[in-house]
Amino acid sequence: RGSQSPDYLAGLNPEQRAAVETTEGPVLVLAGAGTGKTRVLTTRIAHIVSTGRAWPSQILAVTFTNKAAREMKTRIGLLLGGQVEGMPWLGTFHSIGVKILRRHAELVGLKSNFTILDTDDQIRLIKQLIQAENLDDKRWPARTFANMLDAWKNKGLEPANIPEGDARAFGNGKGRELYKAYQDRLKSLNACDFGDLLMHPIAIFRAHPDVLADYHRRFRYILVDEYQDTNVAQYLWLRLLAQRSALQTATGGEGETDPFDDTGPRAIDDDPDAHDGMWDDEASPAEAAEGSPPAGSDDAGRAVDRKGQPPRINICCVGDDDQSIYGWRGAEVDNILRFDKDFPGATVIRLERNYRSTGHILGAASHLIGHNEDRLGKTLFTDHPDPDDPKVEVNAGWDSEEEARAIGEAIEDLQRREDHDLNDMAILVRASFQMRTFEDRFVTMGLNYRVIGGPRFYERMEIRDAMAYFRCVCQPADDLAFERIVNTPKRGLGDATIRLLHDYARARGVPLIAAAMQMVETEELKPKPRNTLRRVVTDFLRWSELLPNTKHTELAEQILEESGYTEMWQNDRSAEAPGRLENLKELIRSMEEYESLPSFLEHVALVMDTEQNAEMDAVSIMTLHSAKGLEFETVFLPGWEEGLFPHQRSLDEGGRSGLEEERRLAYVGITRGKRRVKIWFVSNRRIHGLWQSTIPSRFLDELPEAHVDVMEANTSYGGYGAGGFGAYGSSRWDGAAAFNEGAYKTPGWRRAQAAKAGFAEGGAGQPGGRGGDGWSGGRSREIDYDA
Ligand code: ATP
Ligand code: MG
Repeated sequence: RGSQSPDYLAGLNPEQRAAVETTEGPVLVLAGAGTGKTRVLTTRIAHIVSTGRAWPSQILAVTFTNKAAREMKTRIGLLLGGQVEGMPWLGTFHSIGVKILRRHAELVGLKSNFTILDTDDQIRLIKQLIQAENLDDKRWPARTFANMLDAWKNKGLEPANIPEGDARAFGNGKGRELYKAYQDRLKSLNACDFGDLLMHPIAIFRAHPDVLADYHRRFRYILVDEYQDTNVAQYLWLRLLAQRSALQTATGGEGETDPFDDTGPRAIDDDPDAHDGMWDDEASPAEAAEGSPPAGSDDAGRAVDRKGQPPRINICCVGDDDQSIYGWRGAEVDNILRFDKDFPGATVIRLERNYRSTGHILGAASHLIGHNEDRLGKTLFTDHPDPDDPKVEVNAGWDSEEEARAIGEAIEDLQRREDHDLNDMAILVRASFQMRTFEDRFVTMGLNYRVIGGPRFYERMEIRDAMAYFRCVCQPADDLAFERIVNTPKRGLGDATIRLLHDYARARGVPLIAAAMQMVETEELKPKPRNTLRRVVTDFLRWSELLPNTKHTELAEQILEESGYTEMWQNDRSAEAPGRLENLKELIRSMEEYESLPSFLEHVALVMDTEQNAEMDAVSIMTLHSAKGLEFETVFLPGWEEGLFPHQRSLDEGGRSGLEEERRLAYVGITRGKRRVKIWFVSNRRIHGLWQSTIPSRFLDELPEAHVDVMEANTSYGGYGAGGFGAYGSSRWDGAAAFNEGAYKTPGWRRAQAAKAGFAEGGAGQPGGRGGDGWSGGRSREIDYDA
C-alpha cells in the first residue's frame, strides 16, 4: 500500500498534499488567492471517494456559486477517471438548503412543492403587509424592510430574536409584527424567501434532533470553499451539521443567535424521508466491503470511533481573510478566525505558492492589500517570474463610452495578435450598472459576451409574465403570480373586480384562483367580469389537468397561445415587441433541458447565473463580487474612480472597515488575472442618467511602481500624459482628471455631486443586489438544480 501515489496527488506541493491527506479531524486551509485552495478541496473529495472513505453521497461540499459547483464536479470526475457518481450534496448553501427543506417542509408548515419568492414578489408582498398595517408605504418603503429582513435572516434571527432597536426602527415600531406577518403570509402562500432556505433548516435541526441525527449519520465529510464569506446563518447551519454536540453549543449563550423555541418539538412519525432509501447506504464503501465497521482506525487512517459510536464528521474549510467581500451582507470573517475554537484540535494549513498569476500581478495585488490594517497577513510567491510578463496596466479614458470602446478594441487586438480565446478574458465591474455600456458596445461590434451573475434574461417583463402563468398552473396557491397575469393581457378585469376577488379569498381563507372558481358561480360579480373570470379559471383548470401528461414545452407554448399572451405582443406596435416575442421563444427553448415545468420554474426562480450558450466563445462580464474564485488569462478592471471604486457608501461611512472591504475587492479583482490585468479609469461617468466628473481611485495610488505601467492614452481626445511615478502620491493621476475641460473641482465637491445624483444609493434598479450595497449582484443566492 502507498508505494505509488495516485495520479491526482502527483502535482501537489507538500502543504497541499497534507491538506488533502489529512482526511480525519477538522482542517482549515488559510491561504491567499491562487494558492490552490479550491484545487485542494476538489482533490480531497477525489481522495476520499477513491480510498473508499465515503460514498459521494456521504460528502457535503459547499461552493460559493453554481458555476463553481459544476466545475468542481467535472474536475472530480476527471481526477477519478470519469468514474464518479453524482455528488448530490455539492452546491451552494442555498441549493443544499432548498434540498433539505423540500425533504422536511411539513415540519415548518410548508408543502414540499413550496415556491421560492423572487425579489419582486417579495417587495410586492411586503408592500401589501405595510398597507394592511395602515402604514404609509412611501414613508416606510417595502424595499427598506426587505433589506432589514435580509439582514436579520443572514444573522439567523427569527422575529422573537431581532434586536429591540431594529424592531422599533421600522413602521412606527411594528418591525417585529411585520416580520411575523410576513412569515405567516409566506406560509399561507406555501412559499419561502431566500433567507428561509437556511433559516427553516436551522429551525428544523433544532426542533427535531432525530432529523439532524439522520444528517449526522449521512455526512461523513463536510467541505466548504470561501469560508471567509459565510454569514451567521450559514455558520450556524454548518455547525449544526458538522458537530454532533452542536445542538447544545449552537443554542447556548450567543445572544443574538439564540434558538427560536416558539415551535417546540413536534412528532415526525410521518416524516416522508425517513425511509426513502436514500439513507440506506450509511456504511462507507470501505466499511461495506468489510461487513461491519471495524473498531479503531485502520492503517488507511479511517476514523472509526473505538466506543462503537458513529465515525466523526470531518470538516475542512478553506478561505482567505483578504478576500472577505460580503461583510455588507452579513458575512463574518471572524468565522474563519475562530475555526480552531469551534473545532478543537483543528489542523491549520497555510499555502503560499501562487500557481495562477505572474509576479507583477502578485506584486501589485500584495502591495495594494498591504494598505489594509485588519488582516492576518500572508506572503505569496510564484516560482516562475518571467521577464517577459507584462506589468499591470493602468489606462485613462474620457468617459465610460470610450472606456467600453477601448476595452472592446483591446479584446479584439488580443484575440488577433495573441490568439486569445474570448473565454480567457473577463471584464470585472464594481457596479452592475457599468455592464450596460459594455453590452451595448459589444453588440455593436459583434463581439460575443456573456453576463455572469445576473438573471438578466429572466428578469425581462415578458419572461416574468410568462413565468407567472406557469407558476399558477403548477402551484395554484401562488397568488402573487395570479395577480400579475389575471388581467395581462388586458381582459377588462379592473381594479374593482380584483378587489372583490381579494376580499372573497381573504374571507374564506383560500387562494385567489380557488376563490375565483367559487366566485364565478355566485352573483357577486357583474356578468361581464364574471364571464371573463370564468374563462380565465377554466383555462387554468384545463392547463393544470394537462400538466402531468403533456410535454412541458408544448404545454408552455399552449398556455401562452391560449391565454392571448403571445397575441398581445404580436399586436403590439412598439419597437420592443419583436424582441419580446423572440425572448418568449427563447424561454420555451431553454425549458427543454428540464424535465418538467416545476423543475424549470425552480431553476428560474433561483438560478442567478443564466449561462446560456455556455459553449460559445465569449468575453465574460460580471461584478467583482461574482468573480470570486475564478481566473482568466486577461482581466479588465474598468471604473477605478473615487465614488465608484471605492464606492461612495464605503467613503461616507468614514470608518476603516468599509474602505478595507473595497480594497479586498480590488485585491480579488487583480488576483483573477493569470497573465494580464488592465485597469481603467475615466474622467466622466454617467451615473443614474447624470454625467459626473470623477477623480481617479485612491487604489491606483496604492499600486507599486515596479509592477505597473501607466499607458499613454491613444484616445480621441489625445494628450493624456502619463503622470509618471515621480508624482507618486495623491496627485499622480490628476493629469488625466484635468482633461475634464476645466471642470476639475476638489474631491469633496465631486463627491457631493455624486451623492446628489444618487450615486451612493446603490440598489435602485439594480436587481439582485441587496443589503448595504445594491450594486453587486446577488451571487450568493444561488441555487442550481442541474448540479
Ligand atoms: P482563490 O483564492 O482565488 O479562490 P484558490 O486558492 O482557490 O484561489 P485555485 O483556484 O485552486 O486557487 O488554484 C489556482 C490555479 O492554480 C488553478 O489554475 C489551479 O489549477 C492551479 N494550481 C493549484 N495548485 C497547483 C499545483 N500544485 N500545480 C499546478 N497548478 C496548480
Ligand atoms: Mg478558490
